[in-house]
Amino acid sequence: MVLNISSLLAGEKNRLDIDYMLSVASDELGNAVNLAGVRFPTPARVLGQITDNAGYMRLTLSVTLPYSTVCARCARDVEGDFEISFERTVVPEGMVEDAEEKEEDFVVVKNGMLDIDEQLVEVLLLDFPTRVLCKEDCKGLCQKCGKDLNEGPCDCPTGEINPAFAKLLQMFDDEEKNK
Ligand SMILES: [Zn+2]
Ligand SMILES: [Zn+2]
Repeated sequence: MVLNISSLLAGEKNRLDIDYMLSVASDELGNAVNLAGVRFPTPARVLGQITDNAGYMRLTLSVTLPYSTVCARCARDVEGDFEISFERTVVPEGMVEDAEEKEEDFVVVKNGMLDIDEQLVEVLLLDFPTRVLCKEDCKGLCQKCGKDLNEGPCDCPTGEINPAFAKLLQMFDDEEKNK
């Protein structure tokens, strides 16, 4: 959404509340761009404000993005809310160089309008975890028989995995991470 912040710039207000929905999915089914197997069935809620403190404007947002995917270990369906906070200094177009010198994170106002959606989507997709688990201590599937070990142990012989085999498993695991 393009935010009109001219009332802040004119000094008529010193705070502007923000509350809107931002679509992050790349198609109607909710599929995510560049994130295989992850769907965003509903838009993200963007909530926060811009405050003006004697000309120093600060944007503070919290973004909640519902997702649905499968557990990286046991392949069960997982749904949840991914949350980020997003804070930036709001800089009028003519003052970008100053902001760059200070190396601050900033967003630029053009003609009284502020458009942050592209940046928000970028941050959300970049920060989204590459592996989602159904629960932190998910036991995953048995590498031999494929049983879901969350439902109890299988009958496969336990004991040390052959080191060469362990290395192979690690490789599969890394591959999974790089997907
Ligand atoms: Zn799991
Ligand atoms: Zn087994």
